[in-house]
Amino acid sequence: MPPRRPALARGALLSSTGVLRRLASPGERAPLSRSWLAALLLVLVGVVVLGGVAVRFAPAGSSVAVWWPAAGLAAAFLLATGPDRRRAGLVVLGVLVATGLANWYGGRPPLAAACFGVANAAESAVFWACMAGSGRRPRLGSLEDLGRLLLATVAGAATFGLLAGAAVELTLAGTFLPTAYAVAASHAAAVLVIAPLGVVVRSRRSQRLRLEDVLQWVALIGVTLAVFGTTRAVPLAFLPLPVLVWGATRLHLRTVAAQLLVVSVVVIVLTNRGDGPFATAARQSGYRPETVGALTQAFLVTAAVTTLALAVSTVQRRTALEALRREAQFASVVLDSVTSSIVVVGPDGRVERVNAMAARYLGRQESEVVGVPVGEVFPADPATSSAVPGAEGVEGVDAGPREQDWDVDGLGVRRMVWSRGFLTDEAGRRTHEVRTGTDVTEELASRLFIETVLNSAAATAIIGTDRDGVITLFNAGATNLLGRAAEDVVGELNWVELHDPDEIEEAARQQGVEPGPEVIVHEVLRTGESRNRDWTWLTSDGQRIVVDHTTSRILDPSGRVTGFLTVAEDVTQRREADLATAQALAREREAVEELTALDRTKTDFLSAVSHELRTPLASVLGYTELLEDGGAGPLSPRQNEVVARIDRNGRRLLALIEDLLINSRIEAGQLDLAHVPCDLVPVVETVWDAAVVQAQHRDLDLRLDLPEGPVVVEGDPAALERVVTNLLSNAVKFTPDGGRVELVLAAEGQPTVGGPDGGVDRGVAHWGQGVPMARIAFRDTGIGIPHGDRGQVFRRFYRSAAATDRAVPGTGLGLSIVKAVVDGLGGTVDVESQEGAGSTFTVRLPLARSTAKHSD
Ligand code: ADP
Repeated sequence: MPPRRPALARGALLSSTGVLRRLASPGERAPLSRSWLAALLLVLVGVVVLGGVAVRFAPAGSSVAVWWPAAGLAAAFLLATGPDRRRAGLVVLGVLVATGLANWYGGRPPLAAACFGVANAAESAVFWACMAGSGRRPRLGSLEDLGRLLLATVAGAATFGLLAGAAVELTLAGTFLPTAYAVAASHAAAVLVIAPLGVVVRSRRSQRLRLEDVLQWVALIGVTLAVFGTTRAVPLAFLPLPVLVWGATRLHLRTVAAQLLVVSVVVIVLTNRGDGPFATAARQSGYRPETVGALTQAFLVTAAVTTLALAVSTVQRRTALEALRREAQFASVVLDSVTSSIVVVGPDGRVERVNAMAARYLGRQESEVVGVPVGEVFPADPATSSAVPGAEGVEGVDAGPREQDWDVDGLGVRRMVWSRGFLTDEAGRRTHEVRTGTDVTEELASRLFIETVLNSAAATAIIGTDRDGVITLFNAGATNLLGRAAEDVVGELNWVELHDPDEIEEAARQQGVEPGPEVIVHEVLRTGESRNRDWTWLTSDGQRIVVDHTTSRILDPSGRVTGFLTVAEDVTQRREADLATAQALAREREAVEELTALDRTKTDFLSAVSHELRTPLASVLGYTELLEDGGAGPLSPRQNEVVARIDRNGRRLLALIEDLLINSRIEAGQLDLAHVPCDLVPVVETVWDAAVVQAQHRDLDLRLDLPEGPVVVEGDPAALERVVTNLLSNAVKFTPDGGRVELVLAAEGQPTVGGPDGGVDRGVAHWGQGVPMARIAFRDTGIGIPHGDRGQVFRRFYRSAAATDRAVPGTGLGLSIVKAVVDGLGGTVDVESQEGAGSTFTVRLPLARSTAKHSD
């Protein structure tokens, strides 16, 4: 196998050389097939035989043959060969040799035979040149093709006539003109009858033999034999013609050509025998044999021209009809396969055609609609009732698309958009209107849906743009926000013009791009994701608003960016509020910092002052003790009383100073309690004794209830003393004369219902069963604490209104210190109180482990 050439090279070769060469001389390089050469040989043998026979059968006394079928055979073969120059040349050469031989064989001298050979060859060459010289394959498809055949026949025959006349005059001593005339006619008749077979031999075979074909053949042969096979004097030569015409209009061109040949052979043979109207007339009237020949040729030419003309135009008409039918079928298939509804309206305003879709939408068959006035098909819209012949259809301008609602069976109401086109006649007048309807219901619904969505977002601006930022969509929210109407903006404005130019310039500088619409989408394009940030817009009246701006790309199905969509919300007030809140917070923080600093200064000051006061006060108290003990000499009762008062107030002052110092330590987070075993009994006893001394001038019922054994807790003895002092002094302080103050110290563990606790908090263990605790309860029948204040008594500086009203001395620090110490030792302090009836403060502290075991 030869290697394949690359397609490109092959194509280039074809286009540059091959095609041009083929066009210049079509088929010149086509190989000479064996079958063709065999056919040529056969045809040439036929030419020799037919030529010899024709010469033999020339009418007695005539110098030439009546009919020269050899010329017809050569012409037919040339037509079958087509526009191939090489083959045509071979045929012409063959004809020269064959006819020369035939003439010599027929008895002519060699020179004359040679001349006749040349004349025959020249005829063939001229005929071929006329029929296929232009490179076109000979056809018999139209009357023009037939005209060309007649012309080629006449030209070839005339050529032969001239050359043969000259040959007869020069070599056979005959006369030029009669010979030329006679041979030209005989050749023309033969070519005209036989040559068409060369064209039709290539045409498609008809499917099968029909009865009509058989009948026509029988009629033709019968009539021809009847007319030409008798010696009747009645001239009925025209009779075969109608039968030939029958065949021409009904049968295939190939059959028609064959019939012409058959009729010609029959007529020639019979006339030659002396039968038929021409021979009979010649005998009766004494015509010359040449005249009989001429009559026969005239008959054959007439029959051939008439029959062929009719046959060809029949073929032409059939072809045209077939093309028309196919065109109509094509149009019909196209009409029915489109998804639009098509209605064709005729010149009388009535429907002429509807396609399948239109019939479906109308809910009627096409046959039911055709012929109906178009106004009844489109009833809803009065504007459509004027049909094509109306002013609008014929003269006026196209109405353009028009919308109409159709109630369609099974589909409901459909919105149709109609467009119109017109068919015109040769004068350009409109004859038919073609209405094309498209169902846009779904598109309309989704468009309305989107419009509703867009416009219902009244407080949200939705703005669409094309790739360059020109606004394509502007919803009601955008109008509300910017004070601009959609129609003034869409297609008119670039969205960058909505922005604060300074801000755009600043953003452009940061991004390193030119100020313009690019700035807004720079990040979106870079990351391919939606972006959210604040921008400043300018409203139509020049106001600046801050919008929370989310921008996304709009992509087409192939993923290219076709535009952008922005959803924005006015956040001006929110941002202002955020700013104000931030500023307020900052101010508050500053104030707190200032106050904290101030508080620290105060605490530091108090702590310093307390320290400074304690030392001299301790000294003062030391001296009063000295005085009381008589260390400075005996005192009079009055002096004793004064010293006792100095001592009492000095101790109060010392307690106050202790409170201030502990408070300072608490505030500084430096309470630092010791955790040592500490028996509460002596602590309570010491404090109780001091209190009894201080309250000796008061009228109070003071009761102390101590357990038998020690109550040891892990704690700080000094701090515990402060706890007991503060709570006991409160009970004494807030109980008016005549009241009672009780202090109960007990250890408790398991629930001790009805336990021996002297009636205080009788027998109810409040919590944690099994957790051994020391309990110190301070119960008084004093002024009590208002219910609403109970939660606040442990806050620093809290003093009840009753305390201040009654001018009970105090600082409001005592209970806060109690709480801080008890918490620090892992205990609790509770208060129960009733205003005007008294209060009970209960401190619980975990017992030290060894003691706890004991107390079990
Ligand atoms: P101070 O006793 O110096 O006022 P405290 O912190 O000890 O400060 O007490 C705070 C407040 O709680 C008192 O001012 C008083 O209003 C109230 N309070 C404390 N103990 C009692 C009590 N036993 N009876 C009534 N009110 C009390």
